[in-house]
Amino acid sequence: MPQKGAVLVRSQLIELSREFGQARWAILGEGNTSGRVDEKVFAVKSSGSSLGTLTEIELTECYFGKLIPLLDRKSVPEEEVENVLLASRVLPTTLKPSVETFFHAYLLTIPGVNYVGHTHPVPVNQILCSNLGASFAEERRFPDEVVCCGPVSLLIPYEDPGLALAVRIRRDMQSFERAHGRNPKVILLGNHGVITIGQTTEAVRVAMAMTVKAAEIFVGAHALGGNISMPQSEVNRIENRLDEEYRRKMLRV
Ligand SMILES: [Zn+2]
Repeated sequence: MPQKGAVLVRSQLIELSREFGQARWAILGEGNTSGRVDEKVFAVKSSGSSLGTLTEIELTECYFGKLIPLLDRKSVPEEEVENVLLASRVLPTTLKPSVETFFHAYLLTIPGVNYVGHTHPVPVNQILCSNLGASFAEERRFPDEVVCCGPVSLLIPYEDPGLALAVRIRRDMQSFERAHGRNPKVILLGNHGVITIGQTTEAVRVAMAMTVKAAEIFVGAHALGGNISMPQSEVNRIENRLDEEYRRKMLRV
């Protein structure tokens, strides 16, 4: 991949990261973003840096090949995980990649996934810290939620952030693909946050924004006595409608 590709990926990630941080969907060192540079390398937010003010040096380029094999190991000592994270850097002078780099590496190996966004928005976490997560993940409230977030999201119960979470995400993504014949656009992490994936930063952006909006509506509807979801037949119809297909293309989602 020519250097031009890396520059473009990095500038798009900085723009996306700042938007997420400035929307307060992640504060302090929370959340992270990543993008595939080529088949061997991806760029990811460095550990502890803030999305809202992310700068060029806070993006670290890593080799997939150093990280992915760990997902197949039965147990990996914490010290080795740290060493592999550091060894995965393309340039040893760059900052340590985020502890959540393992799930970014895995998700970016899925065909059609070039970018990954991860945040901890308050409205979404209100739901993910309640017992209503499954209803939020499996049902849809309004048509644009279907267009931008897909007909159903993947909900994963709480798992220790890091390698264990990446292993769990891979397992549950594979089950989801078998069950639905497609990958989700939105992954909801119990007691943690949300991940959106897509071919472009725009797809990641709109899935994230619409998930936060849907969460605000869901929480508000419950506060008013209960959430009314769209009938599944309507969700399916919108998912398959030609004009929605056109809108999706326009939105590049
Ligand atoms: Zn997180």
